Amino acid sequence: MKRKKKRTSSVNIREVLSKVWKNAPIIITCTILAAGLCLVALMQSGVIGEKDIENVSLLFEGQKITDDYKPDDSDDLCVSFIDVGQGDCILIESEKTVLIDCGENDCYNKVSSFLKSRGVEKIDILIATHQHTDHMGCMAKIVDDHEIGRIVMPKPPAGLVPPTRAYEALLYSVNDKGLRFTAAQTGYIYKLGSADDAPKLTVLAPLPDDDFDDLNDYSVVCRLDYRKRSFLFTGDLTEKGEKALLGRNADIKADVLKVGHHGSAHSSSREFLAKVRPGIAVISVGEQNDYGHPAEEAVKRLERYAKVITTAGNGNISIYTDGRKMTVAVQKS
Ligand SMILES: [Zn+2]
Repeated sequence: MKRKKKRTSSVNIREVLSKVWKNAPIIITCTILAAGLCLVALMQSGVIGEKDIENVSLLFEGQKITDDYKPDDSDDLCVSFIDVGQGDCILIESEKTVLIDCGENDCYNKVSSFLKSRGVEKIDILIATHQHTDHMGCMAKIVDDHEIGRIVMPKPPAGLVPPTRAYEALLYSVNDKGLRFTAAQTGYIYKLGSADDAPKLTVLAPLPDDDFDDLNDYSVVCRLDYRKRSFLFTGDLTEKGEKALLGRNADIKADVLKVGHHGSAHSSSREFLAKVRPGIAVISVGEQNDYGHPAEEAVKRLERYAKVITTAGNGNISIYTDGRKMTVAVQKS
């Protein structure tokens, strides 16, 4: 693939860093903060509680995962876990398009050809769950080559962000394109269509005053709701981040869980899973990776609730839904 332009060396990274974050007007900041606090208060008071608990694994009993599914008109939401090896990349297609993460630097061709095959030219919301390269390694190129509506990323303490080439390239690309990062914050809700019941993506973490010592725990966590179905995306959240979500009684119940941190033993705690109660758990992981992901004990905990599927074993995994029925389709990559 081609780079569109050469970076101008006259602009240094400090200068770029000072420009690339959105400075929301004070009134908007206050409204968002108030909405966030209000949501937290509602969660704590239990007004926004768990959704009706329904055992989705039952829904899948006898239903095969298919490799030749032809979606019909009723499948108006599709969530694809693109196989980027050891990393994450999730495409949400509805009236609006969301891309969560994009894998390592060398995954660009894979991701862009998947986007092409789905006719995606504009990414309305691009989310980097956190600044590790297995999540945003090729995001600079994604920004260079696509129309981007909005780019969302957490803003953890600067000392936790590794100064990688990929991160630096992303800052330059965002700046060159005149984009600004939106700092991910609990309480943001993105509506992905015009209908009253269009899919909604709600940011559940991080909170502005979160204080973790691991960048993974600043991962953007969001829940996608469409009619009776929901998906939970947890980036590389570990047990600590899970505890924080449980501590403030966040509504994390979901039919499909994008398993945290590639199925690491230190994520997907018992308490967390008891609250999420997923019917399907998707692990985005590379074959024979150096980390031993997914950990056997994590898979065992997940299997108490969910049918566990991995990108290493299945390739690209797409889940189609009309907000009620769900079909899991796989495509070897
Ligand atoms: Zn990761």
